[in-house]
Amino acid sequence: MRVGSGFDVHAFGPGDGVMLGGVRVPHTRGVVAHSDGDVLLHALVDALLGAAGLGDIGQHFPDTDPQWKGADSARFLTTTLQLLAGQGQRVVNVDLTLLAQAPRIARWRDQIRGSIAAKLALPEAAVNLKATTTEHLGFIGRAEGIAALATVLIEAR
Ligand code: MG
Repeated sequence: MRVGSGFDVHAFGPGDGVMLGGVRVPHTRGVVAHSDGDVLLHALVDALLGAAGLGDIGQHFPDTDPQWKGADSARFLTTTLQLLAGQGQRVVNVDLTLLAQAPRIARWRDQIRGSIAAKLALPEAAVNLKATTTEHLGFIGRAEGIAALATVLIEAR
């Protein structure tokens, strides 16, 4: 079995919602990003790549590449899962933490968890989603952006 960790940040910018785990959550801001800026999926992809020893998201999906402009981050996840499958690896479980002063995701948590579980073809019990503010400290606390942490376990089939 192998463990991996991931971290991602996006700054808020103009817009009226953010993508989180493939779910569009209404907000007074959007995020600045080359892709759809889904911090949960980006942290998850980095954790999976890390567990597999395959580098990071920027190497596989460069933000200078026009094909990823405005991309649905689910495409990053699908491609990453194919890379893992090619190594004979499967995902055991994932644990995600969203760091955000806003938006609050309590209403959306079950939907986001279900969305991520479906993308991973895992039962929801294998996908945990936590959320925390930073007690108004730092860039997250000032609601200048959002961040996510991911930890994953993978194993040979
Ligand atoms: Mg990102």
